[in-house]
Amino acid sequence: MSNIVAIVGRPNVGKSTLFNRLTESRRAIVDDESGVTRDRLYGKVLWNGVEFSLIDTGGYVSGSDDIFEESIREQVHVAIEEADVIMFVVDVESGITDLDQSVAQMLRRVSKKVVVVANKVDNHQRALDAVEFYSLGLDEVYTVSSVNGSGTGDLLDAVVNILPKDTEEEEEETIPKIAIVGRPNVGKSSTINTLVGEDRHIVTDIAGTTRDSVSQRYNKFGYDFILIDTAGLRKKKNVREDLEFYSVLRSVRTIEDADVCLLLLDATLGVEAQDVNIFNLIARNRKGVVAVVNKWDLVEKDNHTMEQFRRKILERFEPFTDIPVVFTSAVTKQRIFKALEEALHVYANRTQRIPTSKVNEVMQKVIEAYPPPAYKGKYIRIKYVTQLPTHTPAFAFYCNLPQYVREPYKRYLENKIRENFDFTGVPIQIFMRKK
Ligand code: GDP
Ligand code: GDP
Repeated sequence: MSNIVAIVGRPNVGKSTLFNRLTESRRAIVDDESGVTRDRLYGKVLWNGVEFSLIDTGGYVSGSDDIFEESIREQVHVAIEEADVIMFVVDVESGITDLDQSVAQMLRRVSKKVVVVANKVDNHQRALDAVEFYSLGLDEVYTVSSVNGSGTGDLLDAVVNILPKDTEEEEEETIPKIAIVGRPNVGKSSTINTLVGEDRHIVTDIAGTTRDSVSQRYNKFGYDFILIDTAGLRKKKNVREDLEFYSVLRSVRTIEDADVCLLLLDATLGVEAQDVNIFNLIARNRKGVVAVVNKWDLVEKDNHTMEQFRRKILERFEPFTDIPVVFTSAVTKQRIFKALEEALHVYANRTQRIPTSKVNEVMQKVIEAYPPPAYKGKYIRIKYVTQLPTHTPAFAFYCNLPQYVREPYKRYLENKIRENFDFTGVPIQIFMRKK
């Protein structure tokens, strides 16, 4: 189950400073992960064994004064819809402003869990000043200094405590959860309509779905999986929803709930920055992915078009390019089921366990053929490798000097694993461990 915490608040209260502060502990832990670029707006926090996603909604809002009020209201609105917990950041230096009041008013009206974060409490005097924020009428006020870190431990304790507890995860585990994601207008709804059709019999709502995401058990034509869709089925309320901010935020929830994502792309537009952002969210969450180039009916083609397209797309997803690409049309229904087949194949890849003897047989040869380069005059010996019993594929290489194995060598190992076993569409992690 996913846990999403959204940071809201007006500009300059310190949202991005707080975001950086809170995601930094996690950064240290995942330091040895390869090919992961962190962005400013979305990060993972691990606190007392609980992991959650942190989103700085403010980062999406452009700074011109005239749109402030309106865009902050939109920001809060989406956070209310999508997040499990909202951190409402206010600034003790400036005190309560009109904008704070109007945000508070929105938050008071909903049942979402909210923590008020009084930021810039750098000293004791300011801690006393912060009591004024209780007048916002939102339960708990936590005082922090994002700059020096004080108070953030208590804040994280509180957040972790009020996050929804893991339940009923186990039962659904064996049914693949497939999501259709992509920026607005790529054809998500059309694809879902093609899949689901008007035949409501094949669709049963999953009981106990507490959130807004629409999950359906898809049980037809020999397929059995859960189709997750948020962005696609939801009615667009206004034009603003076409902004990247919304599509990314909405994608977060959908991606976190899924095992495999069909990332829809628009054949007439190619891969743009927004597609890459969504792709990165998928990869960062270590979910399976199939690239689906939709609206293929609109493209003029010859014998080479598909291959050229495929290459161009994968280039944008480097270094993670071992992913299936399918060319579809939601209008002519071309290859829609092929896309599903690929998703289920990726699911199988993602859940497979390679026996230790088998990995070693293959990887020992690979390592002998090209051993890790010596570092500071020291030889690195990899003794054995095993796939870890984790939810998503991860391999641990046991060796004498794990800290001396560099990124390029880890990539070499990953590529060899991919050459020898089928992990297409699945991010894998490589760890070096002390033997
Ligand atoms: P955002 O617009 O809400 O994301 O705000 P920023 O994170 O960009 O911070 C706005 C300004 O407040 C910057 O100059 C920060 O250095 C400053 N700031 C942020 N947190 C603190 C804090 O805890 N104490 C102090 N004194 N300044 C802070
Ligand atoms: P969403 O915002 O991702 O859910 O996109 P929609 O499913 O609403 O599709 C956006 C527009 O693209 C609509 O006008 C669709 O009719 C059109 N569209 C979607 N898929 C295709 C396709 O495969 N081929 C063509 N020609 N148009 C498509």
